[in-house]
Amino acid sequence: MMNLFLRPGRRVAAAAFACALPLLAQSTPQPQPEPTPMPPAIAAPVDKPYAGTVKLFVDLTDNARRIANVHEEVPVVPGAKELVLLYPEWIPGNHSPTGPISKLGGIITTVDGQRVQWVRDRVNVFAFHVPLAAGAKSVGVDFQYLSPIKRTEGRIEISNAIADLAWNEVLMYPAGYFSRDIPFDATLKLPEGWKYATALETGSENGATVTFKTTPLNELVDSPLYAGVNYKRIDLSPTPTDIVHLDVFADTAEELNVTPEELEVHKKLAAEADKLYGSHHYKHYDFLLLLSDVVGGIGLEHHQSSEDGHDGKYFTDWASGVGSRDLLGHEYTHSWDGKFRRPADLWTPNFNVPMRDDLLWVYEGMTQYWGNVLTARAGMRSVEDTRDVFARVAAGFEVSPGRDWRPMVDTTNQPIVSERRPVTWVSWQLPENYYTEGELIWLDADTKIRELTDGRKSLDDFAKLFFGPYNGSYITLTYHFEDVVKALNTVAPYDWDTFLKTRVYDLHPAVPEDGFTRGGYKLVYTDTPAKWVMQAEAANGSADFSTSLGLSLGASRGDKAKPGTVNNVWWNGPAFKAGVVPDMELISVNGSAYSPDVLRKAIVAAEKDVKPIEFIFQRGDEVKTITIDYHGGLRYPSLQRVDGTPDRLDEILAPSKSPFPPM
Ligand SMILES: [Zn+2]
Repeated sequence: MMNLFLRPGRRVAAAAFACALPLLAQSTPQPQPEPTPMPPAIAAPVDKPYAGTVKLFVDLTDNARRIANVHEEVPVVPGAKELVLLYPEWIPGNHSPTGPISKLGGIITTVDGQRVQWVRDRVNVFAFHVPLAAGAKSVGVDFQYLSPIKRTEGRIEISNAIADLAWNEVLMYPAGYFSRDIPFDATLKLPEGWKYATALETGSENGATVTFKTTPLNELVDSPLYAGVNYKRIDLSPTPTDIVHLDVFADTAEELNVTPEELEVHKKLAAEADKLYGSHHYKHYDFLLLLSDVVGGIGLEHHQSSEDGHDGKYFTDWASGVGSRDLLGHEYTHSWDGKFRRPADLWTPNFNVPMRDDLLWVYEGMTQYWGNVLTARAGMRSVEDTRDVFARVAAGFEVSPGRDWRPMVDTTNQPIVSERRPVTWVSWQLPENYYTEGELIWLDADTKIRELTDGRKSLDDFAKLFFGPYNGSYITLTYHFEDVVKALNTVAPYDWDTFLKTRVYDLHPAVPEDGFTRGGYKLVYTDTPAKWVMQAEAANGSADFSTSLGLSLGASRGDKAKPGTVNNVWWNGPAFKAGVVPDMELISVNGSAYSPDVLRKAIVAAEKDVKPIEFIFQRGDEVKTITIDYHGGLRYPSLQRVDGTPDRLDEILAPSKSPFPPM
């Protein structure tokens, strides 16, 4: 795309060229190009029932080639001259236009059984026009969803043992209607012997073919299905009326083995959420837990289920997973924060209307907070480890100078800006800071409420008030910024409008530490990493020196990088200033072959030395010596108790004293 700032210069150059050709200059002036009018826009959705029920058939039996074969029968409005079919573009939970339209092939349309060629809209590539003759009754659509085979093509969704079926990837729907007004009858054919789990309710089963009860489109897309060979269903229901299941799919049968202790903390997670919110917004809830080293894991929220992906070691090497242990607590929280209560401008009537993400610091930021708090309350992660997680978040801000230029609210645009692809300079671009900074703002608010009310009220009361209406309903209830302020004021009167606006909209170069300070702790740095950080390093070969040298090495989760591969370099940190770049490989440190321990020892030794640390890096064919004049020690972040101050943080992380809500 052209940079607009270049235009004046280009015009000067063209004028100079014309002067050199006086004969041409005398001819009729050439007209400037004018824009061609846009074609008519695709019909905006309206809230009225669609002409009939769409029948959808998905065949997953070609799982070896990762191909889903789709057939649809779409009734048409009597007298209509065309049917416009939309492929979902704006995907809930992604907060961005990431519908995988590039993965479709073999699109064929028929009208009442006769082949009729579709035409793709010339502006909106997610829209397909199907011309209709008088008296047309039904449009048939066939296509294949060609799921990635190699990781470079995208996330692997189907393997020989597991499939993650997102319905939005395998359907088209008529334009012009709210998605809640279009009923779907979905039928799925699975490979022989596979089992499945979904929040959808089964209508009938015939061998490997399953038909689900008629479901509105919005609910169908919100109810993905996991299927596979190795499957275990575990009841986590905290009360007889709050029905929660853990549906585990794994590459191997061994990876399904859960110990009684692991099972217990998952049950406690459901119980703690029940006590926190005092309500729930589902008929029944299913954690679709995927344990795989082949199929890529995601964390994606839905109203009555969540997609929770982890590598195969989730149960079998429980100790190494502390860092990502809040995944289920986070996605479960979204049933209340995000799916039931949703920012008004983020809710859209169908899947091809743009989303606006400016309140993601509530949708994701508060969910990040409650996800971590619930994980601690359930005993899935110890209080001490949770404090370390908070310390790492805050310390990350200290070495992220992007806070000098980017207000947190602007980071809420990032899902649309980058469509959730990784960025190169995380600490400078601050891609999605609304998660972690939002989390610290809500810790700040929680401790503030506790201070204002002498401990009688807390953010738990806000959660019950804000997420509590219409208990049992899973119809989305939208809100605006003012509604958040109003609910906070109901819990504890204060100038919450200014409190939130200054933290969200203003630049904040300083680390947001008020939540810790009021919580009875301060951020300190030590030479000793948290035990779980070391376990994670040992398990995946990664090493984090972000708060010391300003770099991290080895694999990020799911990758198979060499241990010395530079994963990330912190902007303006010591490594950055010395010229280290993220695609280098660290070969040696002070003459010894690199390992995380060798580097740690060199950093500790340099604290008492005036000599710089000497590194050899390789980048492609180039081998290069780089010295870093760093003597600040390892600087692992941690929270230290401040004696004589109220210990509010540990109160927040302790199991809830609330009773189970009546239902
Ligand atoms: Zn989330």
